[in-house]
Amino acid sequence: MHKPRKIKRYCPKCKKHTVHSVDKVKKKKASELKQGQRRFRRVMRGYRGFPRPKPEGREKTTRRANLKYTCTKCKKSIQPPSLRAKKVEVSE
Ligand SMILES: [Zn+2]
Repeated sequence: MHKPRKIKRYCPKCKKHTVHSVDKVKKKKASELKQGQRRFRRVMRGYRGFPRPKPEGREKTTRRANLKYTCTKCKKSIQPPSLRAKKVEVSE
């Protein structure tokens, strides 16, 4: 899937359609203080194994991709729910 670098989109802060720049969101290292990471560490402790069993069966053919839209006027960025696609490219 190809996405343009600039796209016209609704900005909730400006309350109208403005030009947004599109960026892919990279995965950041999980903070040790976040609830999800604390829960993960707690579950991993002791004799129980990994929190979830490894998924069996066929591999998924698509991956989740997160896109971030930043308003060029007020610099507010919005990250809508991720989308599934084989490949997501942000092109000119
Ligand atoms: Zn805006």
